[in-house]
Amino acid sequence: MPDGPSGDFRAFSARCGRDPLRVQGPGGNTSMKIGDVLWIKASGTQLADAEDAPIFVAVDHAAARRELRGVGDGTCHAAVIDKSHGLRPSIETTFHALIDWPVVAHTHSVSTLVHAISPEGRMAAKEKLAGLPVAFVPYRKPGLPLTKAIADAMTPETQVFILANHGLIIAGPDVTAVDALMADVEARLDLPPAGAAPSEPANAPPTGHSWISEVSNLAIDRRTMALAFAGSYYPDHVVFLGPALRNTPESGRPAFISPGIGLALRDDATPAQRAMVQCLHDVLARLPKNWTAEPLGHDAEAELLDWDAEKYRQALAARNH
Ligand SMILES: [Zn+2]
Repeated sequence: MPDGPSGDFRAFSARCGRDPLRVQGPGGNTSMKIGDVLWIKASGTQLADAEDAPIFVAVDHAAARRELRGVGDGTCHAAVIDKSHGLRPSIETTFHALIDWPVVAHTHSVSTLVHAISPEGRMAAKEKLAGLPVAFVPYRKPGLPLTKAIADAMTPETQVFILANHGLIIAGPDVTAVDALMADVEARLDLPPAGAAPSEPANAPPTGHSWISEVSNLAIDRRTMALAFAGSYYPDHVVFLGPALRNTPESGRPAFISPGIGLALRDDATPAQRAMVQCLHDVLARLPKNWTAEPLGHDAEAELLDWDAEKYRQALAARNH
């Protein structure tokens, strides 16, 4: 087995993972190519643990690239070099294999998401990122469909990828260059949060729930609340919280918004679900007043949840009566 990725790569990965404005919970992934090996974050692990735990899995780069051309199932499970440890490569491994730069870092950057969920935001990002080797990629389901869209949008020189309704990829020759380029993009896209200060509702929370005062603006600011009810805006929201938030507790849904009062999270919610509630707040609080937000839509939500699209539409229609 070849040596694992370098210490500076692990430190950079952990720093991304510990910053809730870049990565939330198990989201995001980084990779490093060393010789013929692509070291990629394993599925279900957290970038925040990159310095403390074996979160990277070695994949045969050539075999992973062949999956882009339809050899294999697109998961790159077959390309894992040492299968004895049971780690599976990230669902997003194929785009790490596609992008030829040695270091690739993918985050669900809040500042990028604010731009990437909004048609006006994507136009603004084009101006703010002018002069950088940037590609704008339309929304596709994570996995091979997204990787194919990236392949269509990029050139060999592309180092910054803005993924509509999803996030950011930065690629470069080494860790120092990727770290610096990511900092540059974050600074260019930075937007201040607006809205009401966090507040603790006076009412007792519903049974089995707690108010999350840090995100109370989601329930108090009318526009923010309307956006939270109107849809979901990026994949991890759907995966961890389900589709658009509702105004009453529902089985299988970890959070709901009590209009004018607060956001209630189930007491048995996971840290990832809590992180995704914070992320929704952080994104919507930064959306400028004159920008619209484009939800993923029911078809994309059903695809993310592996639900039959037609059954999903019928279930939604039944619930809305
Ligand atoms: Zn992602």
